[in-house]
Amino acid sequence: MSGDECEGALERLYEYLDGELPADVFAEVEEHLDDCAPCGHERDVNRKLIEVISRCPKEAAPEDLREKVLSIIATSRAPESEDRS
Ligand SMILES: [Zn+2]
Repeated sequence: MSGDECEGALERLYEYLDGELPADVFAEVEEHLDDCAPCGHERDVNRKLIEVISRCPKEAAPEDLREKVLSIIATSRAPESEDRS
């Protein structure tokens, strides 16, 4: 797994989640996210974040909210050290 691939996938993560990527790039990113646990986790976190934010009234401060959501996710996250050797 190369760091470059991760970087590329994460760079496109928001476009991916927003559905702004062309189908072929989307498939490429998705493949990486499915393959790569840390990147897949980023996707889950950000998807959840977008969901929560989109459900909130516009007055809510996104910064505070983001922190809150991230801390909730951080405490409930799947174990990072899957013994997958
Ligand atoms: Zn990755």
